[in-house]
Amino acid sequence: MTRETLKRDVVIIGSGPAGLTAAIYAARADLKPLVIEGPQPGGQLTITTEVENYPGFSKGIQGPELMEEFRHQAARFGTEFLVTWINKVDLSERPFTVETDDHIVKAKTLIIASGASAKWLGIPGEAPAPHGLGGLGVSACATCDGFFFKGKPIVVVGGGDTAMEEATFLTRYASRVTIIHRRNTLRASKIMQEKAFQNEKIDFLWDTGVEEIIGAPETGVTGVRLKNLETGEEKIFPCEGVFVAIGHKPNTDMFKGQLEMDEVGYLKTAGNTMATNIPGVFACGDVQDSFYRQAVTAAGTGCMAAIDAERFLDHLPVEMPGGKEMTIEGEIITADHKAIITPEGEIVLNEPDNVPHSNSDAPVPPFQTDGDANSASATDV
Ligand code: NDP
Repeated sequence: MTRETLKRDVVIIGSGPAGLTAAIYAARADLKPLVIEGPQPGGQLTITTEVENYPGFSKGIQGPELMEEFRHQAARFGTEFLVTWINKVDLSERPFTVETDDHIVKAKTLIIASGASAKWLGIPGEAPAPHGLGGLGVSACATCDGFFFKGKPIVVVGGGDTAMEEATFLTRYASRVTIIHRRNTLRASKIMQEKAFQNEKIDFLWDTGVEEIIGAPETGVTGVRLKNLETGEEKIFPCEGVFVAIGHKPNTDMFKGQLEMDEVGYLKTAGNTMATNIPGVFACGDVQDSFYRQAVTAAGTGCMAAIDAERFLDHLPVEMPGGKEMTIEGEIITADHKAIITPEGEIVLNEPDNVPHSNSDAPVPPFQTDGDANSASATDV
């Protein structure tokens, strides 16, 4: 089957608060952005319930409803949406290429807002049913699934703020919540620790690893096999639910080897901008922020990325990672600035009279500086 080629000024990967805010700004700048929504359109807020800290909603708003509002606002100004899985991204040449099953998308600028996903332990019994007990008592989202554990004993794995928050929230439903942590001190902030310590429904098991989740499709989860990491002693701990809360992983696998990232995989952005190491590629939201991770900060960086992309499109040509400069039309300017190679391979001397695409309406060469174009020699520019 032949794939359709789409050419766009701004392509946004991801449709959480960062991606959709970038879309709103880019669309209002008349850049007609294309948003490629991933496997979880709307991002992490679509699996939460009440959002009480998003400014502008004094009575709170449901996460999915908030994301619907974002989406409608982006669509209102002409954002296009593609709901599809991305197979490959090539950032070596501009326009950049994003490949899906049905499309080859050519992007003059790319805004990455692919977010982060919950991390898993990688132990037997954890995989989604039918391969494991995922969905049958194993979850990574207390607000999504807590309701199903009314009156049941459950465990929460992890020692950070997420684990404390999930455990505290789950005491609304569960008969008992046991936090299982691999060390004997918590990583969570003091205030979250105190909240958990003071909650009578929460117990702690320290220096303990979860080796396996036990149960069957008919019964759901019935327990966990634990290992004391100090003594090596193993035991079965009965429970009916397992919440894994060991942090998040940025969704950046498709950019490995192309974009600079930290050791965890968060994309690096430069200074006060959302620019990555490749000119024309910007990153915003949880994919580049392991610290604040809030909907409102993600939205803020989405706005910044769209403004960065808009300014970038106004200031071409730019240097590519290999050192050569490229215009938005795909023309390559040689390192000594003496020649321009057109996308068709034609070599044109970089002199005002020879500049490709020049006509009487647009006499200014694309690499012109503020100086006098007519008097500047090729090597001056
Ligand atoms: P963290 O990385 O802070 O904590 C992850 C926890 O899981 C750590 O205790 C870690 O153990 C444990 N862990 C990691 N991998 C494994 C593993 N393979 N097996 C067992 N345990 C494991 O992630 P969080 O999601 O908790 O928090 C991330 C950020 O979000 C933080 O900055 C946090 O402050 C913030 N946040 C804030 C909230 C709030 O303020 N309301 C709520 C939630 C998050 P170890 O300690 O040994 O490394």
